[in-house]
Amino acid sequence: MSKQKKTRKDFLKSGLLLGAAATTGIGLLSSFKAPEVTSETVKVMTSDGKLVEVEVNKLAEPKIPKGEDLTLSDLQKRGREGIPGKKWVMVIDLSKCRNARKCMEACQHAHHLKPEQHHINVMQMQTAEYTAPFYMPKPCMHCDNTPCTKVCPVDATFKRQDGIVLIDNERCIGCRFCVAACPYSARVFNWSETIDEKENNQDTYDIELNVPQKKGTISKCIFSADRLRREELPYCVSACPNGVYYFGDRNEDAVTNGTTKETVRFSELIEKNGGYTLMPELGTKPSVYYLPPKDRVFEFNEEDKKKLDEEREHHG
Ligand code: SF4
Repeated sequence: MSKQKKTRKDFLKSGLLLGAAATTGIGLLSSFKAPEVTSETVKVMTSDGKLVEVEVNKLAEPKIPKGEDLTLSDLQKRGREGIPGKKWVMVIDLSKCRNARKCMEACQHAHHLKPEQHHINVMQMQTAEYTAPFYMPKPCMHCDNTPCTKVCPVDATFKRQDGIVLIDNERCIGCRFCVAACPYSARVFNWSETIDEKENNQDTYDIELNVPQKKGTISKCIFSADRLRREELPYCVSACPNGVYYFGDRNEDAVTNGTTKETVRFSELIEKNGGYTLMPELGTKPSVYYLPPKDRVFEFNEEDKKKLDEEREHHG
């Protein structure tokens, strides 16, 4: 079996791998939740690419405090620190996106957004007038060199050690400097009363979920920091039915496809498929990579063409 074709089952046969790392001292390739353990031993992969067998009874339960047990200041502290040792990265395969928009729906639902608000937006793209269009999901790029955090006067938005750019809406004063600074138009502003406010949501504000939402503050894609805390893939990645998204840890050089659950080397995926980032000339160093829309796995049919013609007419 080639490295590219190994599934998550080969890499991970337990959701208890953080415990295994602590017990065995092994640097594990990935730590997202995986199927139940059925044997006495499980195979895990070391950071240098070797498969090793670990006894199941040596695995310890990861101790992850539940969000609901924490106070506001605990949540703020945990949210600022991030997850040590990780450097999250996303890869979006444009050849597979067929505008299902399940990623958008899952994200909107999780973050209590209104239908017109998007943390991830699927955009229709076309390289020339008579070529078939393709679809491009666009989340926050989680830039390493962040124009947005640098202009915040109250340190409400920041980049944490695992690469996620977060917002603390307990600090946000709604100045919107960050909105103007972002070259990818990734930020949205709550201009009016939010769904949480309408429904009188009294939950403690969770900075890693950015809920409850508040009027007069900013929101944006946060790579589903709450899900990563629980060792799960982001909402959008898991919701996609077409295998568009890969997500993982750059330090481990491993990304997992949200649909097929296949785990592959990040560097190989990018290298072999001509992966790229958006607007590299700006020096923002995005953590989101794209694979070009070549060899598309779906056809551009008559219905798509009709929709496109209608949109053209509508926009002049
Ligand atoms: Fe900031 Fe925009 Fe980069 Fe996201 S895409 S990190 S909001 S500059």
